[in-house]
Amino acid sequence: MTTRKLTAGRLIIATHNRGKLAEIGALLAPYGMTAQAAGDLGLPEPEETGSSFAENALIKARAACDATGAPALADDSGLCVRALNGAPGVWTADWAQRNIIEADALGGPGRDWYLAMGKVEGKLAEQGPGADRSAYFISTLALVWPDGHHELFEGRAPGTLIWPPRGAMGFGYDPVFVPNGETQTYAELGPDYKMQHDHRANAFQKLVAAVF
Ligand code: IMP
Repeated sequence: MTTRKLTAGRLIIATHNRGKLAEIGALLAPYGMTAQAAGDLGLPEPEETGSSFAENALIKARAACDATGAPALADDSGLCVRALNGAPGVWTADWAQRNIIEADALGGPGRDWYLAMGKVEGKLAEQGPGADRSAYFISTLALVWPDGHHELFEGRAPGTLIWPPRGAMGFGYDPVFVPNGETQTYAELGPDYKMQHDHRANAFQKLVAAVF
């Protein structure tokens, strides 16, 4: 089956996550697409009810495409830790969600990435100093057209989790993730490095090869 080509024009980026938006916007810039963020268009964030990255990416891209009538691109991504049987995986963002007790202690509800990194570290610490600290980030990109056609692309970035967190650039779990072949975390290596090497860049290279 041949892949559908994407012609220059409006493309909706179905994310409300500023970090992802910055990466995807920069990756798309050379291809003549006018990228618009679902968040900036006031579109609601659909509930991610899928049990896989691909299902959730399709839910987000379909919702944005249906609401705007334009092709839409969504990323569903997460961190999979080998010693935790792939967790947090599809639930990576949920691990940052404060529960009632945490919200009381930390000044309200919302997502807290230090909390999320600490939860992963706590579970690894339970396994002792010999715990396998290898992990990978995964990104699944879903591209959906108004007639319902879709394409999916998956990228991965393997690495190791460190503690305590290091670096001030990036978002999410960047301060605890050292990609294979490097000694610094994503948050120390910064956006230029990530744009060339991370899981989204890897998925994006596949998308570019297929649809542009
Ligand atoms: P979702 O794709 O919206 O379900 O969210 C996945 C979560 O995984 C994000 O909110 C981030 O915290 C985390 N994540 C995905 N990609 C990265 C990355 O490149 N660096 C750090 N964290 C990431």
